Amino acid sequence: MVTIADLNVKEKPQWCAGCGNHAIVVAVKGALAELGIPQHQTVISSGVGCSSKLPHYVNTYGFEGLHGRSLPVASGIKLANHKLTVLAVGGDGDGYGIGSGHFMHIMRRNYDLSYIVHDNQIYGLTTGQASPTSQPGMKTRTTPYGVVETIFNPLASAITGGATFVARAFAGDPAHMKEMFKEAITHRGFALVDVLQPCVTFNKLNTYDFFTKRCYKLDQAGHDPSDIMKALDKAIEGPNTNYEKIAIGVFYKVQKPLYEDSLPQIKEKTLVEQELSGIDISAVCEEMM
Ligand code: SF4
Repeated sequence: MVTIADLNVKEKPQWCAGCGNHAIVVAVKGALAELGIPQHQTVISSGVGCSSKLPHYVNTYGFEGLHGRSLPVASGIKLANHKLTVLAVGGDGDGYGIGSGHFMHIMRRNYDLSYIVHDNQIYGLTTGQASPTSQPGMKTRTTPYGVVETIFNPLASAITGGATFVARAFAGDPAHMKEMFKEAITHRGFALVDVLQPCVTFNKLNTYDFFTKRCYKLDQAGHDPSDIMKALDKAIEGPNTNYEKIAIGVFYKVQKPLYEDSLPQIKEKTLVEQELSGIDISAVCEEMM
């Protein structure tokens, strides 16, 4: 049994009042508690950014790494002990900008881990620069005349890049968001949940009101998440409709072999359970010197 109280910490989150991150951390704790995943078997890794403070606010194991590096850390944890429940968290600048190479290539491996991206369409911690998901035309501190680049589409990239579970949630709909986290955590494979997370301080375009008017739920629209072409249609619907329609829910879901299962070295035992004594590593150390 794990309760929300078990997952709470003494520290108060250092996020702006009204920030969507507050709802995300509550939903993460709710999902872990409802799934009954023991705290000592859960690890949350992050990179750098407002979002990446999240591991500090959940009473599980956690690791705050370097900017854009939550996924390599998470995959290393998974390889060391693939029995753990591993969550990686980060923001759109962190994961889709600075860590974009990791994002694309880790998806191809299909590790059994969940990646929650607090997508606020801006760099929040560094006070309001354009990110890869800033809407075209949006004025920021680095784009005073408006964003001119094509927007990065994380869901379409994930669907075509090898992710086996691709979903979107909205921080203004916490009950639905918690269900998306539960589905991602219980999915066997790489699961992306892109969360529309209003940054109330630096993003005055993509507000709670903006999303509330435009978001609709895929399951209520009869979407079939096993159909990759329909999933792609839904993923590009936002840009195609000038963001008048934004779907939330599970876009795509498929079962594929895990990377961990293909490694004979960890077939019988996790790496951390294996005995190291008796193995002579002096030649390897010598080579590294
Ligand atoms: Fe949240 Fe934006 Fe404040 Fe960061 S700057 S805590 S993302 S509202």
